[in-house]
Amino acid sequence: MTAPRNASNPQHSLILALDYGGTKHTVGVLAVGARDWLAHERVSSPPGADARYDQVTVIKLAHDLLARTQGQLVAVGVSFGGPVDSAKGVVRLSHHVPGWENTPLRDQLQAEFGVPATVDNDANVAALGEWRFGAGQGCASLLYVTVSTGIGGGWVLNGKVYSGADGMAGEIGHIVVRPGGAECVCGKHGCLEVEACGRAIARKMRERLASAGRHRDTAEPIMGESVARAAQQGDPLAQEVMDEVARNLGTGLGGAINLMNPERIVLGGGVTKSGERWWRILRETARYHALPQMRVDIQPAALGDDAPLWGAVALAEPLL
Ligand SMILES: [Zn+2]
Repeated sequence: MTAPRNASNPQHSLILALDYGGTKHTVGVLAVGARDWLAHERVSSPPGADARYDQVTVIKLAHDLLARTQGQLVAVGVSFGGPVDSAKGVVRLSHHVPGWENTPLRDQLQAEFGVPATVDNDANVAALGEWRFGAGQGCASLLYVTVSTGIGGGWVLNGKVYSGADGMAGEIGHIVVRPGGAECVCGKHGCLEVEACGRAIARKMRERLASAGRHRDTAEPIMGESVARAAQQGDPLAQEVMDEVARNLGTGLGGAINLMNPERIVLGGGVTKSGERWWRILRETARYHALPQMRVDIQPAALGDDAPLWGAVALAEPLL
């Protein structure tokens, strides 16, 4: 534990933003009200890292960045890559890193830095980041969906994250879009995640190549990204796969629109870089499934990989 920091330049009140990802962690420091980082650094965790390793790494990096920055720390905002009880500031677990079960992360950080801290899961925090600083600015209701290795989502309603009764609201990745479809990490079948995420793209491509009896030209493993690239270059099998996952995602988003009638949906994550055709098909499908009186405003995220970090800043602002 360390004492609260003394100001070398007290007119700068600082927010510390932490993003604990599965394999990468990011730390940022900025002055209250500013829109530029005073310090910003991303580190990778080696394979096999546990919660303790990640915690030591992130805290050391945070102290390093604060030591280089003039001003007084006043609040800490945190995005965590896994389910969080945000009211208590307790991490339930990480799906990627062992040892996080029931970690009182908020209390640990408050003891470490001597200022108030607040913690929420990455999809909720990224949603808040896009609402406050990115593609969702000014929206009274916003659904943020990240489409990458998996699919996650978060709601911002009237300027606040809507967490739901169990802190799990926005888990659009586990809405079933194909009953009896492929098995999901959650144990169910045909979830949107397993029918539309990056891993699903790679799996569907492998299945199509196998049933077409086609041999692959290279020894490179098939990844979602390479399939999306092949589709954009006109490969018909890859195009079939990308069209199918875009339709699946559009179906899920159409259902979300019918349920909540959001002002806007913002999509982030690597799969959203799959080109104009993927965007057109998912928008058309969402339009097809949504009631005709409802708006279908689906936009790309503006903040990229830093959405959770900017969201952590927005999360910390009410603590001031
Ligand atoms: Zn699932």
